[in-house]
Amino acid sequence: MAATIAVLPGDGIGPEVTHAAVAVLQTVRPDVTCVEHEIGGAALRRGLPALPDDARATCERSDAILFGSVGLPEYDSKPLAERPEYALFLLRRDYELYANIRPVRVFPGLEDASSLKPELVRGLDLVVVRELTGGIYYGKPKEQRTEDGVESAVDTMIYHAPEIERIVRTGFELARGRRKHLTSVDKQNILETSRLWRRVTERIAPEYPDVKLEHLLVDNAAMQLVRRPGDFDVIVTENMFGDILSDEAAILTGSIGTLPSASLGTRGMPGRQFGLYEPIGGTAPDIAGKGIANPTAAILSAALLLRYSLADDENAARIERAVERAYADGVLTADVARDNTPVSTQTFTDAVTARL
Ligand code: NAD
Repeated sequence: MAATIAVLPGDGIGPEVTHAAVAVLQTVRPDVTCVEHEIGGAALRRGLPALPDDARATCERSDAILFGSVGLPEYDSKPLAERPEYALFLLRRDYELYANIRPVRVFPGLEDASSLKPELVRGLDLVVVRELTGGIYYGKPKEQRTEDGVESAVDTMIYHAPEIERIVRTGFELARGRRKHLTSVDKQNILETSRLWRRVTERIAPEYPDVKLEHLLVDNAAMQLVRRPGDFDVIVTENMFGDILSDEAAILTGSIGTLPSASLGTRGMPGRQFGLYEPIGGTAPDIAGKGIANPTAAILSAALLLRYSLADDENAARIERAVERAYADGVLTADVARDNTPVSTQTFTDAVTARL
């Protein structure tokens, strides 16, 4: 079925890795129309908003968004609405992208890149499902105050049961299609929101009798993730815990450049959900423009796009196998090369395309 993808490469290494992903995507699906727009710092530099109207309009008529990354040091001191990151904020908000799915895989050949012992991460394959539109990042009041000459600040952690229900269901559904083990992470010994989280999760669990549910406190989860990472299948958790745990999970693979993500919202239906797909890393200003960035995260994000937004599991798996083969054949970019001779972004992309 014909499909249109909004391609928003953004800043820094964004364009380099996104173009690699588009090349791979169009090799397996030449029928997909890709419409590209400048956003983030690239748009701000031209006097446009971070998410220009034409980019918004393309997103509106697309089946999914393939996103690079946004953010440049020169904008770091500006208020959010004048920063490149505002583009991502608007897209997450406008499309209510509440489910952030982050698969973490250590491909054969990459074990030595991890800071953990190779035997701990060999064959690692887990998914972190993070709630993305609620919790302490969005709760009100959220402000800094001065009362009687004393400075204070408040952030509010709030969750409503329906927000928990939908994200926990995403976790159960994913686990059902994998090794049928869901770990729900909370802090129910301290936080009221976590007590609600656990209660709602327990309420939903009987709908998935084939999935084994386990609860872990977030501090313990952080520890177990580096002690016995292979025991995890799907982890589901709230926004802030997910932010931290998914970055911790990232170091298991040795490089943030290998990790894709999908952010799914309320639009569409299972298998054909509207989503935003992006590497979990940022714009990597230290290596931008050098042609050495690892495009794996962007390429695997395109695979997730095929799976979740275009119901094309077959080509998604084809891309994932091609990446796996490239690594197994020792084709490694600088971030994961260790003692091997590193290849460029382009050479890695060509190696993947040749193995499709
Ligand atoms: P970063 O992820 O850009 O870089 C961290 C380190 O990882 C750097 O050493 C970088 O070279 C390396 N790295 C990242 N991606 C890589 C890749 N594909 N291949 C090889 N190495 C890679 O994080 P940062 O330095 O904290 O942030 C830089 C900018 O990116 C900031 O402006 C930040 O706001 C922005 N950012 C954007 C997003 C996003 O668009 N979703 C996410 C995170 C950070």
